[in-house]
Amino acid sequence: MNHTPYDPVERHRLLERWVSRTVNGHFERKYWRFRADRWYGGVATADCVGCGLSCRFCWANENSFYNSDSTGFYQSPQEVAARLGSTASAKGYNQARVSGGEPTISMPHLLQLLERLRYNKSLNFILETNGILLGNDRNFSRALSDFRFLHVRVSLKGCNEDDFEKLTGASSQGFEFQLQSLKNLVDDGVSCHAAVMTSFSSRDSFLQLANRLSSIDPRLARDLETEEVIMYPRVAKKLRAFGLRPCSEHRPDNVPERLV
Ligand code: SF4
Repeated sequence: MNHTPYDPVERHRLLERWVSRTVNGHFERKYWRFRADRWYGGVATADCVGCGLSCRFCWANENSFYNSDSTGFYQSPQEVAARLGSTASAKGYNQARVSGGEPTISMPHLLQLLERLRYNKSLNFILETNGILLGNDRNFSRALSDFRFLHVRVSLKGCNEDDFEKLTGASSQGFEFQLQSLKNLVDDGVSCHAAVMTSFSSRDSFLQLANRLSSIDPRLARDLETEEVIMYPRVAKKLRAFGLRPCSEHRPDNVPERLV
């Protein structure tokens, strides 16, 4: 399937208008689900609407770009913090996250949410991001450095620029933003690690990525987490449509636990 690569930064900026709004000085963001989830040994999870990438292997695409205007409901930072806090306390979790889309769209909302969560002394926050906006604007990582209960997981879409374009349909420059986000976070002293989708990459390109990460900070190479595609039926169908064949995969009923 041929395509013209899209600009990943522009798509995230466009989405900000569709999935966020300001009400009485509060930055509201659209969400589509709140839940308790087993990842990381148990984490209270808010699933947001909207992502500026269209990863071919994404399980949440239906709620990410194309339907973001008509999907979900607005929540204020206070409401999200309260729902995460009550889910965590009901389940005995000490971790919370925003998932299901890209949490850095509407950074003011994310920062107000973190401000609210700061007062919940029992919760750590895991920011799962594709890193595009964090790599595009250094101010984001500077602002995040203020929250010591935060850990950022940057999810790399393949091992290099070519993988990135093949897996997301976005311009390969997006991969440089992903790596730059890690550099910005390291430089600003924000706790972070990288994860990489390896199901469509060669062993050599994985080793080359580890070298590139090591040149930013050796800890990024040491802590590099690998991800493999989960073959939900809709994901398998999409991969077939794009002619993508994973060299490794997980069945939906056999996905290993993810730890921070
Ligand atoms: S970056 Fe994440 S949420 Fe966005 S399309 Fe890719 S896998 Fe889905």
